[in-house]
Amino acid sequence: MLSYLHGFHAGNHADVIKHVVLVHLLEHLCRKTKGWRYVDTHAGAGRYDLHDERALKKAEHADGIARLIGRDDLPPAVSRLVELIRGQQPGAGALDVYPGSPLIALALARPQDELHLHELHPREHEALMAHLAADANAHVHRQDGFRGALGLLPPPTRRGLVLVDPSYERKQDYEQVVRFLQQVHRRFATGTVAIWYPLVSRARIDALCAALRAADVPDLLRAELCVRADAEGFGMTGSGMIVFRPAFTLAAALEESLPFLANVLATGPGSAWTVETLVPE
Ligand code: SAM
Repeated sequence: MLSYLHGFHAGNHADVIKHVVLVHLLEHLCRKTKGWRYVDTHAGAGRYDLHDERALKKAEHADGIARLIGRDDLPPAVSRLVELIRGQQPGAGALDVYPGSPLIALALARPQDELHLHELHPREHEALMAHLAADANAHVHRQDGFRGALGLLPPPTRRGLVLVDPSYERKQDYEQVVRFLQQVHRRFATGTVAIWYPLVSRARIDALCAALRAADVPDLLRAELCVRADAEGFGMTGSGMIVFRPAFTLAAALEESLPFLANVLATGPGSAWTVETLVPE
């Protein structure tokens, strides 16, 4: 059952917080010359046409990335993402495409870095292959990302980032991300893991956080951006990231960025943000 297609949501507020964190973490890894391995457990198609039928259906990017492009008051971590996205546009000045996590990582990768991207959906996998075909450092796997990632860890350089971005259509994904984090921690305690979660039910996220606190994995940061007040079961009102072993600069960058984003990306009353230590080091 793979019905989720990210093209309906590309560039929305959830992509913004997820990709601000992704860019920040990868740029931090680039501070050292030693290569890193990026593992994307749920890669998607890699790039999305913002003029196609899917993107236009709800035009979610209009209340996400489109509100940020062209502003000159962006906090530095947001500005880094926006500049990267501008650099991916085929035409000057316009917002025609939105790069997914694989192409964002590829844009930041150096010759010594490598990407491993997992995607199960046949057509999304095909599109991802087409977007990355020319790059020798990017490896696309049509395989379950939770399983595939474990076989790739730890990387030989012991430096890397795992992005975990399921659609959570299967409710088991909430439990699976916790088990997966425990498994990665056992194999690659010096790596970084970033897990995205949707805010559809506050009770579900409270349960996820409780499970993470009990998971015996140290050093977890939680960051959340809500574009309107919680509406138990009535659509996604926000989303968040759980980061294991975050770059030491991440919390401060998000404390600066998220109040700005909660204001600029708000779609109703009650927009809010959080940056907290979920489990200390
Ligand atoms: N990470 C992407 C980004 O930020 O641009 C978006 C990914 S999208 C939210 C989730 C993707 O995971 C979908 O394309 C879906 O087909 C794929 N998927 C679902 N279950 C999977 C699994 N077990 N392993 C790998 N891919 C999976």
